[in-house]
Amino acid sequence: MNLFPIDLYSDTRTLPTQAMLKHMLTAELGDEQHGEDPTVERLCRRTADLLGKQAAVFLPSGTMANAIAVLVSTERGDELMAHRSAHILNFEAGAAAALAGVMVRPLEGTRGMFDVETLSESLRRPARHLPRSRLVCIEQTTNLGGGAVWPLPLMRAVAELARDAGLSVHVDGARLMNAVVASGLPAATHAALADTVSLDFSKGLGAPFGAVLAGTSDVIERAWRWKQRLGGAMRQAGIMAAGCLYALDHHVLRLTEDHALAAALGDGLAAIPGMVVWPVETNMVFADLTATGVSAATFDRALHRVGARVSIQGPFLIRAVTHLGIDRDAIATVLSAAQTIIAEERTR
Ligand SMILES: *Cc1c(COP(=O)(O)O)cnc(C)c1O
Repeated sequence: MNLFPIDLYSDTRTLPTQAMLKHMLTAELGDEQHGEDPTVERLCRRTADLLGKQAAVFLPSGTMANAIAVLVSTERGDELMAHRSAHILNFEAGAAAALAGVMVRPLEGTRGMFDVETLSESLRRPARHLPRSRLVCIEQTTNLGGGAVWPLPLMRAVAELARDAGLSVHVDGARLMNAVVASGLPAATHAALADTVSLDFSKGLGAPFGAVLAGTSDVIERAWRWKQRLGGAMRQAGIMAAGCLYALDHHVLRLTEDHALAAALGDGLAAIPGMVVWPVETNMVFADLTATGVSAATFDRALHRVGARVSIQGPFLIRAVTHLGIDRDAIATVLSAAQTIIAEERTR
């Protein structure tokens, strides 16, 4: 049970539905480390096809998928480029440095994205005394960028520049299916110029765990060695994979509902005097409370009274994420509470 019935902290707060659990409990199982778990094999085949790649490997988390993507694409002392707000830089306990020995070059840009000029300026010429520019990471959708979807032409231009310069491209697709639903473009199109692409099942897709990393057969074979080394090789992991397969069958199209509710929440919050809401593209709503004079912590604490919570992203910045545990009534409750909170604080 979630501590907060209206938990907008993240789409990681979803609980598996009864139907998903039933599917997991009846999965066909085997030893996944030996390629003998039929359910894991089915998930890998299906996601490789979905993402337009030769092969995919099943992993416990998106964080491990990103770490392995860096490990298979770089050598120690190499440099990777990512937006300064990227998950890979901020929330993976320094894995790129600790595991791969890679330097990270944070790039500037709006809403978690960067342009060709910015990437171009960051590329180092080949020289013995310089780190080797080796990998570009693109987050689709951007998390701290507000759930923005990289427009295809921008993504293509950035990836083409990287590849022309001899770099690899990793698409951190923790929320790739949100981008698919929002853009109407297939997952394989978003991943077309990526050497590696990850997909997370424990976010909006609503599974309790699981991620995949996809790429060429050769890259995925090397990824397997890292999965083994990191302790990510599992046994009867079909229980997990079944939840992921269920999510692909039943929880992709419904992401449009999350997006519609996020848009409604964004519109409602924007109507409150002083609230500045970032453009809502997918299931994330970022609101800047500076002009209301109410801090993010105060706002969040006050929401607890109605059983709701959001995430605090800065002294005056909140993030609310919709997911399958949030319905129209929950959004109405939060909006009405938000109006009261801001009004009360203003007259104080
Ligand atoms: C959540 C997230 C991850 C990591 O996923 P976990 O499964 O929680 O390890 C990677 N990238 C982005 C953009 C994320 O939001």
